[in-house]
Amino acid sequence: MGKAPVPAATGKRVVVVGAGPSGLTIAKYLKKRNKAVDVVLIDKRAVFMSGFISNLVATGILPLDFITHDFLAGARNSGYHFLQATVVDVDKKSKTVYTNEGSLNYDVLVLAPGIDYDYSRWTNGDMALEERLKTQYPAAFIPGSETLTLKSKITDFEGGNFVITVPGGNYRCLPGPYERACLVADYIKKNDIKGKVIVLDENPNITIKADGFHSAFKTLYPDIVEYMPSTTISKIDLDNKVIHTELGEEIEFEDAALYPRVRGNKLLEIVGVAKDSVFNKMEADIDPFTYQSKVDPDIFCTGDVRPMGFSKSGNTANTEGKIVAEYIDMHLSGKKLGRDTWKSPLTICYSAVTSDPLKAVSVNAEYAYNDEKKAFGFANAGTMEKWNSKDGVNAGKGLIEWGKGLYRDFFM
Ligand SMILES: Cc1cc2nc3c(=O)[nH]c(=O)nc-3n(C[C@H](O)[C@H](O)[C@H](O)COP(=O)(O)OP(=O)(O)OC[C@H]3O[C@@H](n4cnc5c(N)ncnc54)[C@H](O)[C@@H]3O)c2cc1C
Repeated sequence: MGKAPVPAATGKRVVVVGAGPSGLTIAKYLKKRNKAVDVVLIDKRAVFMSGFISNLVATGILPLDFITHDFLAGARNSGYHFLQATVVDVDKKSKTVYTNEGSLNYDVLVLAPGIDYDYSRWTNGDMALEERLKTQYPAAFIPGSETLTLKSKITDFEGGNFVITVPGGNYRCLPGPYERACLVADYIKKNDIKGKVIVLDENPNITIKADGFHSAFKTLYPDIVEYMPSTTISKIDLDNKVIHTELGEEIEFEDAALYPRVRGNKLLEIVGVAKDSVFNKMEADIDPFTYQSKVDPDIFCTGDVRPMGFSKSGNTANTEGKIVAEYIDMHLSGKKLGRDTWKSPLTICYSAVTSDPLKAVSVNAEYAYNDEKKAFGFANAGTMEKWNSKDGVNAGKGLIEWGKGLYRDFFM
């Protein structure tokens, strides 16, 4: 394999795989901390599209432009190299990353490739069914074509049941499916469509901001949203458009966005740095206080692939990315990382519940390690769930500003 088209390294080289919120933040903040470090950010996508705020785009509240951004701007403004390529393998011994554009060497490697879907509970290995589910009823929790499919499903919806599923495990964006249920219902209500949104939740209750979402379902969409907790899907019959549950219910649907469980991106398994976590299959096998792979301390794994029970969200990946950039800088200068150097990321997340005017609920939280449980839990957590108040309208405005702030932080 030839060499990847990037200039020769001018200092210690850090290769970052994945230009989502995690990788973008690490690349920028590493350069900010230490200009001498040579940073190469690799992503297979040609343009950036965010998952956060994409529910507002799919339901026509905001234009596609809002969530679509230019990777090259980040490279220009922060002085790192951007390589559009797909990483196919890593040789840990020779510290080589292999891409479809050629290979390159690293001193430190960051793997921030995000989630993959785990359809196994629904398909039991039936790849034809998995392909139909992905193509016809995509989850739209990996932004791109899935987001556009969801947008056209909503625009084309003429009535009947629109099913949204909520997976178990620690799935990407806990409030995301409930926000989507509210906004699809909002669309149905505004357009006077004879339709319902049926939320099939694998969990016993709404997983976050439950009071806010329950009251939005009841007050704003009493005849539109039907919420079904503790619902495990046993069979999806796509030919007859019926979902069967373990309790024997049969739910007919006109259209759907079917969100299966998530797992760590398959690249981690290929590189040999993955292990089942308590939440999901094949997430990063790392020291939770340093983000370093247990098999190779020169490999850091960040963002939604982390196995800790942090929220799998853009804001968490962004604040965590600044901390991990500091860890990498320390590691490059020979300092030891450990529990004493650990800092908590911050989760701030707004979810829209209605569009006119835009009203939202929000949560903010840090994390702390519980030695008895040997796990991280929320610390200093607070929610604002009174969407039907002045605070709800302010949170609607806050949501837009929060999104713009993240894009500025990634690319300016
Ligand atoms: C509908 C929806 C609503 C959401 N709402 C919110 C919200 O309200 N608030 C919030 O904070 N978060 C929200 N999120 C979640 C947030 O978008 C994700 O948690 C966040 O994007 C995770 O960042 P990441 O960098 O870890 O992964 P990603 O954003 O998935 O980035 C990974 C990148 O790696 C690239 N990649 C993968 N494999 C390879 C490879 N082999 N070679 C090269 N490149 C590769 C991908 O192309 C991608 O660009 C939402 C997401 C969705 C979909």
